[in-house]
Amino acid sequence: MLLVRVRDVSRVFANGVEALGGASLDIAAGEFLSVLGPSGCGKSTLLRLIAGLAEPNAGTIDWPQGRPDIGFVFQEPTLMPWTTALGNVALPLKLRGVARSEREARAAEALAGVGLKGFEKSFSRELSGGMKMRVSIARALVTAPRLLLMDEPFAALDEITRRKLNTDLLDLWERTRFTAVFVTHSVFESVFLSQRIAVMSARPGRVRSELAIPAPYPRT
Ligand code: ADP
Ligand code: ADP
Repeated sequence: MLLVRVRDVSRVFANGVEALGGASLDIAAGEFLSVLGPSGCGKSTLLRLIAGLAEPNAGTIDWPQGRPDIGFVFQEPTLMPWTTALGNVALPLKLRGVARSEREARAAEALAGVGLKGFEKSFSRELSGGMKMRVSIARALVTAPRLLLMDEPFAALDEITRRKLNTDLLDLWERTRFTAVFVTHSVFESVFLSQRIAVMSARPGRVRSELAIPAPYPRT
């Protein structure tokens, strides 16, 4: 079932830089798709267009089944320093007016889902980079979005932490089955995580090819 249909989208910035030049992509409900390409090829721009954080200058983005709830994970965890891990994860629920007891229960469950049971009361400054990213993923998933967009979430982490997070993210996806779009410049990461990889050219910001990874995909 088709969740998102991206057709010929372009994005040109005020300074004349063309970040995307006619990219097309289909995203199927429930899949784990990686968007792979070198730095500067327009991956973030594509993701921001899909998220509705920016508008394309040309082209269309259609949602055949209606636009779903979308979670977004950035490369920087961007946790609020004044509240705990639980408070950070509960924030999207608070913004939706969910009552305190329910949002704290759901936030605790989301933290447990990313392996952070017992760290509910920790503040951002007390957490490692990998743990902060886990909190960030829990915050993006706490509202149970159908689509989770991730923009090089593990790029700033060391290799060991990164591999652990890759494994745990895949386990989480297998349990929860949200649709995942994962932007990365790492071939390893894209092959490890994905059922399908969309490869972007360095220039001019197009999706060049798509590769299907036959299941069962490689696991370590
Ligand atoms: P990637 O995520 O693949 O590294 P981006 O989507 O961030 O690529 O950027 C694609 C291109 O657009 C790059 O050349 C980048 O320098 C340029 N770009 C991104 N954001 C802006 C902006 N706000 N203004 C001008 N140019 C931008
Ligand atoms: P709420 O409206 O639910 O209090 P907050 O984000 O303010 O939302 O807090 C969420 C959780 O973080 C609560 O359990 C709260 O007790 C805890 N918390 C927030 N700020 C602090 C603080 N400065 N010191 C200790 N715990 C805090």
